[in-house]
Amino acid sequence: MADVDEGRMLSVVVIGAGQAGLSAAYYLAARGLEPWRDFVVLDANDGPGGAWRHRWDSLTFGRAHGIHPLPAGPLDDPDPTEPANRVVPRYYGEYERRFALPVRRPARAVSVRRVEGGFEVEVEVGQARRERLVAASVINATGTWDSPYLPFYRGADRFAGVQLHTHDFRSADAFAGGRVLVVGGGTSALQFVQELHAHGVDTVWSTRRAPQWVDRPFDPDWGLEVERSVSARTRVGLPPLSVSAATGLPLNDLYRPDVAAGVLVSRGPLVSLTADGAVLDGPGPDGAGYPTQGAADAVVDPPRVERLPGRAVPPVPERDRPQGARDEGRARTSTLWEAPIDAVLWATGFRAHIPHLRPLALREAGGGILMGDDGVTVERVPGLFMAGYGASASTLGATRAGRKAAMDALRFTAQGSFAQGQGEQDAAAVASVA
Ligand code: FAD
Repeated sequence: MADVDEGRMLSVVVIGAGQAGLSAAYYLAARGLEPWRDFVVLDANDGPGGAWRHRWDSLTFGRAHGIHPLPAGPLDDPDPTEPANRVVPRYYGEYERRFALPVRRPARAVSVRRVEGGFEVEVEVGQARRERLVAASVINATGTWDSPYLPFYRGADRFAGVQLHTHDFRSADAFAGGRVLVVGGGTSALQFVQELHAHGVDTVWSTRRAPQWVDRPFDPDWGLEVERSVSARTRVGLPPLSVSAATGLPLNDLYRPDVAAGVLVSRGPLVSLTADGAVLDGPGPDGAGYPTQGAADAVVDPPRVERLPGRAVPPVPERDRPQGARDEGRARTSTLWEAPIDAVLWATGFRAHIPHLRPLALREAGGGILMGDDGVTVERVPGLFMAGYGASASTLGATRAGRKAAMDALRFTAQGSFAQGQGEQDAAAVASVA
């Protein structure tokens, strides 16, 4: 395998070889940058596949919400029953080879700093070696998978059962015969509830607010709306919403029957955990009702909603109730009850994985990164581009953002005077884009 010359100023370092990083790398090479000499892709994983190589086996290709092909790399016709954690790594691996992309792994960027003429990227290569690369621009494409988000709930430290996040879920078999609380309002939570239920596990689904079911086609207009609503936040420096918070949950044939059967029915917001139970802010275990379910209210058949074991618990001060319950004014009418559980599955999402960018002090007062209108430019740090961040956190969005970031990086390096001759070559590459 070729390698990179540590002392030489590169045009671009791409960090991350998932959908966003590979798309960026494809366009950098296609526009004339020479792999290894002018740009390199760092990837912390041991092999190809980005986040997909870590997903659980029952998330088959057919069960994924559509995987967009990489540029000039059709996905052919994968077997829908094959786990996505095999299909996608194989696909990315072939893609890297076919286009001779300069992916270095395992190579984790541990810090990115500004230096004269560009950036210094400190890299941990394998287990022990450290290297420093310098580059005129950086495309960050590190996704979210390595930063699972765990919300704080009272009692979580006292809970005696198992707690795990989506990040660590492997198989429903591990919960056979148990009672599992699934926390979260996104599609991962839906799929976990369904899968656990199908494995004979007693499930309790908890959402902070009424599930955001959406009964409309998930067409390109819808996709654009989602991108717009997430971009509206990142353009003012707020943290991005998760895609499902912006999209809602599709009330389609995959989920409708289990909604109607009372399996996919939220039991209300989680208030706290006890040693062996979950205190929920809902109408209780007596089967008399359930919290509002948004658009699914038209579908849920109340008599079929499963009764759950549980007991009423003393009231909790208003300030300790979850935000969702207070927002909806339900705290006054609903009952707190405790459901006995053996495990909690936190399907509570992910955050941008960017600890290595800390030296660049990117966080705004609002908690996010101030992004330009193109969705990839970091307003305060010329030469740094983010692909797969915010609105582009889907395989389609990441593919597009990778292209934009590559074009912007080429334009940026062509304007700079970081290395004699290199700028001219990048200028030629940009000209070929136009
Ligand atoms: P990733 O695929 O996460 O790639 C990032 C890469 O960067 C990884 O290889 C990682 O090892 C590497 N990396 C991280 N930090 C460093 C570092 N410091 N140095 C070097 N390398 C680093 N989207 C869809 O379009 N369809 C779906 O069906 C779908 N299903 C999803 C299911 C789940 C459970 C989740 C959580 C997300 C899903 N998404 C889906 C979103 C999808 O995963 C992403 O949109 C897309 O795959 C992300 O691509 P990416 O390149 O941004 O990040």
